Amino acid sequence: MKKTPFITLDKAKEIIQQVPTPFHLYDEAGIRRNARALKAAFSWNKGFKEYFAVKATPNPYILKVLHEEGCGCDCATYTELLLAEAVGITGHEVMFSSNVTPEKDMRKAREMGAYINLDDATYVDFLEKLGPVPETVCLRYNPGGSFSLGNTIMDMPRDAKYGMTEDQMAGAINRLMKLGTKHFGIHAFLASNTTTNEYYPALAGQLFRLAVRLRNATGADFRFINLSGGIGVDYRPEQPACDIGVIGAGVRARFEEILTPAGMGDVAIFTELGRFMLAPYGHLVSTVLHQKHIYREYIGLDACAADLMRPAMYGAYHHITVLGKEDAILDHVYDVTGGLCENNDKFAIERSLPAISRGDIVVIHDTGAHGFSMGYNYNGKLRSAEVLLHGDGTFQLIRRAETPMDYFATLDCTEFSFHN
Ligand SMILES: *Cc1c(COP(=O)(O)O)cnc(C)c1O
Repeated sequence: MKKTPFITLDKAKEIIQQVPTPFHLYDEAGIRRNARALKAAFSWNKGFKEYFAVKATPNPYILKVLHEEGCGCDCATYTELLLAEAVGITGHEVMFSSNVTPEKDMRKAREMGAYINLDDATYVDFLEKLGPVPETVCLRYNPGGSFSLGNTIMDMPRDAKYGMTEDQMAGAINRLMKLGTKHFGIHAFLASNTTTNEYYPALAGQLFRLAVRLRNATGADFRFINLSGGIGVDYRPEQPACDIGVIGAGVRARFEEILTPAGMGDVAIFTELGRFMLAPYGHLVSTVLHQKHIYREYIGLDACAADLMRPAMYGAYHHITVLGKEDAILDHVYDVTGGLCENNDKFAIERSLPAISRGDIVVIHDTGAHGFSMGYNYNGKLRSAEVLLHGDGTFQLIRRAETPMDYFATLDCTEFSFHN
């Protein structure tokens, strides 16, 4: 589908008067619309809840918007727990899906009354050491082998560090029940950024059958199945987008085929979506600083890989629109780069775009998840601002840009002083 930005050139100019580029911009109306579509798609399930994966977009204003739409938080670290807590998201509105978990993090999650999702059977001892075990515990599953849909291998769980085997799950459940745990959940994340409507239903089918087997083997009471993240977005214009309604109906069919007949029709479905909730509702807005013509044509932006690492790290495609030239013919071929001293700092390679001039404002699409949050400070590049565009067209700075003094703030400055 043709990708159109959610802002016009005029709106961008209005924001830039107050917040210089580069910045990440989020579309509140789009975020709410999409969260409601997800909720509607799973409304057949009484206990359905989305726990937004905080790592995708760790800004409390975003968490608050999602919370207003009924979402909780999926946290993996102490800091992410603090973010959720600051927004007033605690207790069973928090899923703590961590791995290689420090004791401090686990204590904080326990204090907050979060659902604890255990990455390994050895974590039962770890939990027990910290005090009485929780009444409800979630266990993360790794089926090993490969995860396929039809003839397509989606991912290789056997190579993934996460989760535990079915036997280990049964052992952990038996021990936890002896220690006082009464209810259980199951979690698995087997493929990332899937753009087929078949992933969630296939995963659900696998986890539902596992839940029935484990219930039969241990007598455990299962309260929820956590399908985790992994629903992808159409980063490329020619890619089909996932249809969340079809996905919800597909999960429902497996639920009614497997769980309902097993007497487990009251199990809640949880999700921990990050990318699907936010990616399309973020733009990285940037200004063209320079052009150069050597063996290729280069467009240099004031944003760089430190603002959006995905192209450099994964070779990921992100669509680019030049504001005000939305309908111009794409008769130029450019590499669009940032200014890091790293040749992989390219947002696009040999991309067909309209003729670009210095001062043009470009939008890099689908940066709302795993964008700002993967930022870093290489080359002394500073983290950008984040701006929330409200439904009525007004906007709010929800994180200022870093200054050099922020970058120096953690140094021991007894010997050196910086002058900004
Ligand atoms: C990263 C992550 C998610 C979110 O993944 P998306 O691909 O953004 O949907 C959910 N759960 C866990 C445990 C994760 O690590």
